Amino acid sequence: MKPEFTYIEQFINRIDVECPSCKAKAVVTSSPENRAETRFTCVRCGSTKHWIGKENVFQTGSSIFNSGGILLGSPIDCYFKYPLWYQTEIKGEVLFGYNLEHLTYLLNFISSKVRERQSNEHGWSNRSLESRLPKWMLSAKNREVIEKKLKELMAKEG
Ligand SMILES: [Zn+2]
Repeated sequence: MKPEFTYIEQFINRIDVECPSCKAKAVVTSSPENRAETRFTCVRCGSTKHWIGKENVFQTGSSIFNSGGILLGSPIDCYFKYPLWYQTEIKGEVLFGYNLEHLTYLLNFISSKVRERQSNEHGWSNRSLESRLPKWMLSAKNREVIEKKLKELMAKEG
């Protein structure tokens, strides 16, 4: 399963979340070399938590709540499953980023690649990243609204 997630994995070592206690911006830190050291820290209320999970189990989507593994692709952090700080809605879909770096990556990708796609339909389907992004994000007609929402998220104060 692991190669599937190479792209997203670079963003899951520092995840901005909403503190479940005080709703402030808090952070989950992890390390691919030592997932056992994954922890949650909220500076506002002083809450901290140490993650105890399945370090090498990667999952996506629906099996969230019966899994003690690392969950990718949902608007919650991969470890504790707290709500992400950077998330918003577009036409009933959830747009989210794990951190500013991830949002920046998405913005650059959407801005350049979606345009490119229109003139290069053939080469698109086999490339790696876009097969992991939902179709609505890759639709040229959604590009402007996605760019706008990403910029709004990036400006969200913590
Ligand atoms: Zn807190």
